Amino acid sequence: MAASSPADVDAAVGVAAATFAETPWSRDARARQDALTAWAAALQARTDELVELLVRETGKVVREARMEVAGSIDALRYNAGVARHLDGEAGTLHDGSVAHIVREPIGPTGFIVPWNWPALLLMRDLAPALAAGVTAVVKPSPATPLVTERLMEIGREAGVPDGLVSVVHGDADAGRALVEHPDIRAIAFTGSTETGRAILRSSAADFTRVLLELGGKGAAVVFADADADAAVDALVPNAFVTSGQMCMACTRILVEAPIHAAVRDRVVERVRALRVGDPFDPQTDLGPLISEEHRDRVLGYVAAARADGVVHCGGEAVEVAGAGAYVTPAVVSEVGGESVVVREEVFGPLVTIESFDGEAGGFALANASPYGLVASVWTRDVGRAWRAARALQAGTVWVNRYNRSFAEAPSGGVRQSGLGRTRGLEGLRQFTETKHVNWEVSAP
Ligand code: NAD
Repeated sequence: MAASSPADVDAAVGVAAATFAETPWSRDARARQDALTAWAAALQARTDELVELLVRETGKVVREARMEVAGSIDALRYNAGVARHLDGEAGTLHDGSVAHIVREPIGPTGFIVPWNWPALLLMRDLAPALAAGVTAVVKPSPATPLVTERLMEIGREAGVPDGLVSVVHGDADAGRALVEHPDIRAIAFTGSTETGRAILRSSAADFTRVLLELGGKGAAVVFADADADAAVDALVPNAFVTSGQMCMACTRILVEAPIHAAVRDRVVERVRALRVGDPFDPQTDLGPLISEEHRDRVLGYVAAARADGVVHCGGEAVEVAGAGAYVTPAVVSEVGGESVVVREEVFGPLVTIESFDGEAGGFALANASPYGLVASVWTRDVGRAWRAARALQAGTVWVNRYNRSFAEAPSGGVRQSGLGRTRGLEGLRQFTETKHVNWEVSAP
């Protein structure tokens, strides 16, 4: 896929700006609902084709690709529904005047997307933005351009109006050109914390609004009173979802001291049974990593884990049918909080197991991370679960479950995991500006 030049990005933004200014899109909520509904139906009809393309482009297993397509469709459906819920408010103020609060679409918006869940991560932001009435320029990761192009083609065939969504390609240069374009009013970015920081800095020039969905270091806190088997059953697959290349993956399992050894042994036993291989094979649990370069980065973390603690299994590069960057799933314990595998986002098939004492100890260990995307608590004590939900510093806290996202519930990160929330009504409102219209109503 050829990279877009700055002139290409400028032309795409020009189309988004003209469509925003000159077509009824931003004022016709019913047309928006119709377009999103038609797009969802068309994607549904083409699910098999999209699943195959996703597996080929990302290496994720078929089961996950199906979840991703279903989630993308659900984002469109939910937002088609709420497109007509962009209500305002009206009320009388202390001086007798009438306040009329209206929400207006923010304007042409850029969407910058990573490679790991390229369809869902785009649609969870693009669908509410379109529902709110904005026009869009999308820049996918250079690793996953085809899925993105196909989603758009299917949308156009289904009747999504011309000019509403344009796609530009390339890596940092194209991304920067989009962020720095003066006619772009907002950027919805999903990707690494480092890139998010660079985008936030560039946004200062034009006060571009930024929604940042960044890295994560998901921790699960397992108390001694929990159903430990249920915890292991849920956490192991979620540690290795997309071969660990997922912001919400369970990367740290924190276990209360009395059950630490038993949980660790069970996790190791379960992980040894996971299958690495061809992502099209329904028996496969982990497909290849996105690139050989990324595999080498992950192997560097495995080497650090061997130096800092104990690697119980996995962490080896393996050959599958002579192609693809495969790494076996690794379980690491006996590492201190200073180890890079505990502090940094590995973004690969590696989970650490740490031990803690007492409730406060568990909460403190979970919060000892600069990230704050997701966390999970496992306990049978309702009071403790609630205290955990409030104490854990994360945008999402799961109680006795892991890795569930919903189109209707806001998600996002605190601290170095991001700014703002996607999904839910809050997600829709991020793509609007609030205006106060104040009416003099006293008789002339
Ligand atoms: P990345 O930050 O390298 O790239 C993300 C996107 O930004 C790509 O499209 C890339 O081309 C573009 N880009 C790179 N430099 C840019 C710049 N200077 N200006 C503008 N755009 C630029 O991330 P990645 O390696 O593609 O994805 C993995 C990262 O994404 C991980 O850190 C992961 O945690 C994060 N992620 C977060 C979420 C979430 O919801 N919070 C979801 C998935 C992935």
